[in-house]
Formats: sequence, C-alpha cells, structure tokens
Amino acid sequence: MTAVTEKIEKVKLFINGELRESQSDVWMENCNPATNEVLGLVPFCTEKEVDVAVQTAHKAYKNWRETPPSQRARVFFKLQALIRDHMDDLALCLCREQGKTLSDAKGDVMRGLEVVEYATGIPSLIMGEMVENVSKQIDTYSVQQPLGVCVGITPFNFPAMIPMWMFPIAIAAGNTFVLKPSEQTPMTAMMLVDLMKQAGLPDGVLNVVHGGPDVVNGLCDHPLVKAVSFVGSVGTGHHVFDRATKSGKRCQALLGAKNHAVIMPDANKEKTLRAIAGAAFGASGQRCMALSVAIFVGEANEWIDELVKIARELKVGPGEEDLDLGPLISPQAKERVVNFIQSAIDDGAQCRLDGRGEPGNFVAPTILSDVRANMTAYQEEIFGPVLLIMKAKSLKEAIELINANEYGNGTAIFTESGQTARYFQHHVDVGQVGVNIPIPVPLPFFSFTGWRGSIRGDHNAYGKHAVRFYTQTKTITSRWLGQEGPSSGINTTIQMESL
Ligand code: NAD
Repeated sequence: MTAVTEKIEKVKLFINGELRESQSDVWMENCNPATNEVLGLVPFCTEKEVDVAVQTAHKAYKNWRETPPSQRARVFFKLQALIRDHMDDLALCLCREQGKTLSDAKGDVMRGLEVVEYATGIPSLIMGEMVENVSKQIDTYSVQQPLGVCVGITPFNFPAMIPMWMFPIAIAAGNTFVLKPSEQTPMTAMMLVDLMKQAGLPDGVLNVVHGGPDVVNGLCDHPLVKAVSFVGSVGTGHHVFDRATKSGKRCQALLGAKNHAVIMPDANKEKTLRAIAGAAFGASGQRCMALSVAIFVGEANEWIDELVKIARELKVGPGEEDLDLGPLISPQAKERVVNFIQSAIDDGAQCRLDGRGEPGNFVAPTILSDVRANMTAYQEEIFGPVLLIMKAKSLKEAIELINANEYGNGTAIFTESGQTARYFQHHVDVGQVGVNIPIPVPLPFFSFTGWRGSIRGDHNAYGKHAVRFYTQTKTITSRWLGQEGPSSGINTTIQMESL
C-alpha cells in the first residue's frame, strides 16, 4: 500500500462504459517484476464503488438479455479482430506487468483469443432441446437463459487468458459482468475492456473493479450477483467458494496444482527431456499446468543428468529480451520459492541444479532429486521454476503416487507404447492427461477439466461447459390445442395452453 502520488499513472475503474478514477484512499504499487520499477498504482475500491459496478451491470442486463444472440455474437467477431490487431501492444503490456517473455505473453493472449472465437458461435451453443409427444399432444422443450450479473475474480499468472476464460462466454450468453482482475496485474485487463468497448459492447455490460479481499468479499455477498467464477490459489478459492455459495450463488473455483509426468524407459529420450524442461521451467513455473514433478520409471532414471544439462542451458532475463524464463512476480514470491527449495534440501532432497543465486525476482531452473511424498515441497504448490524428481519401479507404482496426491489438474506420460499410454490414461485420477504432451490444456471446444483438489464446484470451467455455467436451463411442457393430424405441430398459429 502506498500514499497516492500524482506522478504515477493510476489504474482506472471501468463502469458503465467509462474509465473512472477510484475515490479510495488505499492504493498499491504495480511493479515490473523484472526491475521492480513502479508502473502504476492500483486502487482497492471502496464498498460503494463495488456496489455501483454491480448495480450498473444489473441495469444493463435488462436490455442485453433481450439482444438477439447473433447480435451479441457480432461483438465478439469484432473483438477477435481487434485483439489480433493489438497483439503486440497487449503482449508488451502483459510482459511488463507480469514478467513473462514476449513469446509467452503472446501465448497468453492467444489462449484467451481462442475463447473469444468460440463465443462467436453462441447462437448454436445455447440452443435448447425438444421432445415431441411426451404424452398425447404434449411436448417438452428447454431453453438456456442467462443468469444476470456474473463476477470473475482472476489470478496474476495469466492476465489475458483467464479474464477471457470468463467474460466472453458469460456476456455472449446474455449476462452482464463485473471483473476483478488480480491487483498484481490489472493493466492487461484494462486494455481488453477498452477493446470490448471498441467492438461495440453497450455500456454497463462489462465493468471492472480493482482490489483485494474486501472487494472480493463485497462481490461474493452482493445480492444482485448470481454467479462467481474464481481462478487462483487453494486457500482463497475455498474462501470464495464458501462465501459465494453461502448466499446462494453459483460458483466455480479453479485452484492450485501439482502436476506429475511419468517418463517410461521406452520414451524418445531427446524429445521427452526437452518437453519436460519447457513444461517445468517455462513461464518460470508460474502456471497451474506447470510440470512440477517428474517420475522416472526403471532405466529412465539414467537420463536425469542429461535433463540437468538441458535445464542449465536455459537463459534467464527480463521478459522483453524474450529469453527462456522471466522473473517471478514479486520479491515475496521469490522468497517463498527459495524457502521451498531449502525445505526440500533440509528434508533430504539432493539439489542437482540450484537456481537461487539470481538477482532481483529471478530464480533459474532448479532440480531436486530423491524427493519423497512426505516432504513439504512435494505436498505444496511451489509455483516457481523448480522440478522435483522421484523414482518408481513400475508404471503402477507411478500411478499410485499420482493418485495419492491431493491435486488432479494435469498429468502426462512419455512413452512409445500405445498400450502403456492407454493403461495410464485409464487409471490415472487426474482430469487432463497428456500423452507425449507435457501441458495438456484443451481448446475451448472442450473444457478445462482439473479434478480433485484443483477444483471446487462443478466442472464447468471455460469453453464448452462454461456455456452451461453461465446459463440456466428452463424446461417448458405444453399441451398444444388443435386438431390431431398433419396440421398439428408447433407453429405460431396454434393456440397453446400450459398444463
Ligand atoms: P490468489 O489466490 O492470491 O489471487 C487470486 C484472486 O483472489 C486475486 O484476484 C486476488 O485479489 C484475490 N484474493 C487474494 N487473496 C484473497 C482473500 N484473502 N480473499 C478474497 N480474495 C482474495 O492467486 P494468485 O497468486 O494470483 O494466482 C496463483 C494461483 O492460481 C496458483 O495457486 C495457481 O495454481 C492458481 N491458478 C489455477 C488455475 C487453474 O486453472 N486451476 C489457473 C491459473 C492459476
């Protein structure tokens, strides 16, 4: 928190289609993680500002709900073109406030853009169903209707993709939206809402507030909010889920992870080791789908020295230089990661590659072997460029280890055997499985399907299933009056009476 100074740019709220300066007296510095230079000040909104944002969205809902789906879809056709036109600016903004390399920053925007493209198909996605003659002259049909005001609370690590997991589908489906981006990375979200305005979104349909726990609690408690989507850490996610559902809201909370890869001795050694290094250390390990544990089975254990060699060659530096890894998000994040590395060493792990010696918020790739399941560093999400190595005698033993872990976000197997891959995907208790793919995140015509400790609520997160999260099904059962025979059926000339 800091006193407001006039010289540094203040991040604005976006309410009713306009940028507004917060009246809050609590502001936080947003820093470039590569330099710790202050980029701007983000407000912790007042209770009144949260209420105004929700009331504005509620007011806009009345008209937006009645706007034909094909017209709503047109906003997203325009938005996808605008995002492509502004890709470089978005990536640079993201790289400066989050620390990702420019290539990773573009990837972040691209993965969000895919959801925007999916949202353009909303008329087909929200189609209802019908069964004729459920009884004599009685038909039942269902329609998908929007909910009202929906809220998105997002983490720092994907400042473009995760807001776009939420607002495009929610809004295309006829809802209005209040976004609360991470207070650590609010600027990319502000660029996105500006593009939404340029795309022709009516005022009040999308609004943005900023802040921390008080703002989140205010949104979870607000009686006009109907649904809350949360992505972030485990403790916060449980809090948000409990708080939102207590007041009767729909809630989905996507949480932390500990993703394991199994390396079989028949895998393609060179490709596997490079894939593992990219998945473990890319984005400095600050991905919920980052690979954090590699289980080498049998003779594959002889490859560990080569993995260390590949990881040692990865280059660390400011995101704008577009090397292999950028910094961690903050000095606190670095301290946390460094403490986990030390705790693993204290618990008996062997440090094969130590990345702690870097300046500022940087940590270079770190590899710890001889890790056991009872170590704190194994049980907790580290969220840094740290790979834990474990050994297993057999595939079965590796699967047992993965299934005993609290989390179930993603996992992968490296093997040339179809039979082994089939056995793994069938028996592993994890929602997203890669076969020779280290980070198996599906495109939005599927859904993000983390399991167990990595999710709270139903599996409706982004993409296909999110359409169901952001709509409610209404079924209508009708007796149709009129003559039996060819002229009976559903058309506007037939009188209808409900049962
Ligand atoms: P975080 O939980 O600290 O913050 C997430 C959001 O919650 C932010 O908007 C923040 O302002 C808010 N918040 C923080 N503390 C709060 C509190 N006490 N009460 C109410 N709201 C609060 O998470 P983060 O550090 O920004 O993000 C990293 C985490 O997100 C990691 O655990 C990562 O695994 C997880 N994540 C999960 C997925 C997934 O799909 N499962 C995707 C990306 C990130």
